[in-house]
Amino acid sequence: MFLIKINLKLLTNLSKQSIIHNAMLLSIYEAKAKQGEKVKFSISCDLPQSILDGRECKFLSPVNLAGEYYYKNEKLFLDGVASVKLLCICDNCGEEFEKVLKFNVNEVFVESYNSHDIQDYLINQASIMIDEPLKDNLLFSLSTKLLCKQDCKGLCSVCGKNKNYFSCNCENITKEIERQEENPFNNIKNIGDK
Ligand SMILES: [Zn+2]
Ligand SMILES: [Zn+2]
Repeated sequence: MFLIKINLKLLTNLSKQSIIHNAMLLSIYEAKAKQGEKVKFSISCDLPQSILDGRECKFLSPVNLAGEYYYKNEKLFLDGVASVKLLCICDNCGEEFEKVLKFNVNEVFVESYNSHDIQDYLINQASIMIDEPLKDNLLFSLSTKLLCKQDCKGLCSVCGKNKNYFSCNCENITKEIERQEENPFNNIKNIGDK
């Protein structure tokens, strides 16, 4: 297990490069020294709430990432699984719920952007900044509907009741009205059936 956490604020005086406050640096010194050999790692990273702007959720924990990486031909290949606890609002019914979100982080880091894929991240000498790939993968996994449960029934579009807890007859009434509007004789037929 190889784990180094550095608060980048401490490096502010050393470097005039663009600084992301509290950015998480992961040392890849060992991986660079042993080309091609896999190094296990785990890291815990506090991402700012502001990255969730536009999504109906909040962080309830740091993002934990564990996995392994190896360095070969001036590239670092990282494969990990991240997890974070979130407080979310259901896209269907509007109820708050807690969710442990798990997502994969499979990324390539390069020494320079010259002739490399635009999706790659940069290696910063003997370390990589993990915030950006964590953020990108987190937001990607949040880009689908967030539901309090898989079979959330949502709200009734007529009376507004939460159909997970209350039942109403609005749907049947609406259907019946539509049927009658389509064919006024249905009504007569129904009476005849009874
Ligand atoms: Zn729901
Ligand atoms: Zn209803």
